[in-house]
Amino acid sequence: MRDTDGMAFIGSELDRAQELRTDPEALAALAAAGRVLPFWRGRPLIGAEAAGWLDAGHPILAAAAETVFLGRLDGRGMFAADVSARPLEAGAAATGSSFDVGDLADPEAPAGLAYADLRQQMTALDPVEAELAATGRALLEWHRSHRFCAACGTPSLAVRGGWQRQCPACGAEHFPRTDPVVIMLVTLGNRTLLGRSPGWPPGMFSCLAGFVEPGETLEAAVRREVAEETGLRCGPVRYLASQPWPFPSSLMLGARTEAETEALTPDPSEIEEALWIGREELLTVFAGTHPRIRAPRRGAIARHLLAMWLADRLDSGDRLV
Ligand SMILES: [Zn+2]
Repeated sequence: MRDTDGMAFIGSELDRAQELRTDPEALAALAAAGRVLPFWRGRPLIGAEAAGWLDAGHPILAAAAETVFLGRLDGRGMFAADVSARPLEAGAAATGSSFDVGDLADPEAPAGLAYADLRQQMTALDPVEAELAATGRALLEWHRSHRFCAACGTPSLAVRGGWQRQCPACGAEHFPRTDPVVIMLVTLGNRTLLGRSPGWPPGMFSCLAGFVEPGETLEAAVRREVAEETGLRCGPVRYLASQPWPFPSSLMLGARTEAETEALTPDPSEIEEALWIGREELLTVFAGTHPRIRAPRRGAIARHLLAMWLADRLDSGDRLV
């Protein structure tokens, strides 16, 4: 089991075996004996504490829209397959006791497995399985949403084990997207800033976050997002750590900054509520005893940054990951 305030999807040192992506024969040989993680509309097949790997040739994989190469583990090829075309009923509850009502059972899947929201299950997986699942989800969702050449509109084809799409008409090459998102721990003396967006689970607050814009530095994005969302002006920005966040294709860039102003004027289109919270009160949030505020999700970088701040480890030079 992982440290519950640590970050999911990092640190596994997965062997991505890039050299095999351009070697179709070697890749085909690896695929024939490979292990495949199926995804149904973004949800991996998953069990209580392990991903639901299937052997190549399993009936569930017969109609896969796309199969992508994730890397090599213990000498075997690891793949992900998009089986969204399987006629499952959305909303059908799985039988496993650890699953939510929204999880989906597949009549042909081994017992105890269901297609589940990776965010709900990410801390149950060990680091390498979590990285494989995150990589598979991000890559398959890119294929699902980039079926046509962006230059000429012709249907494009997946090549290089799924790490590129090629246009058969104009020859344009397209590569998987990763979208940088800044997420920042904003402090003011002994307090830190929390905000909540409309539509989040009831009571959940987190660090502010936002997409980096073209032509913008990470530091400028931090200051701009904080100013836009709360009206605060911030000082210098320091990068802390990153986390892949495949929902659908973000890379979270964790940073910290000190506010130079205090008054909060949330932009209601982005932030429902923003507040300053002291260490003692934040401890009750993490303990689950706060009457109103719930902590960010386990495994998410926001929770990790807040936990490190609470433990006073951000200025000590300790490694964060
Ligand atoms: Zn084209």
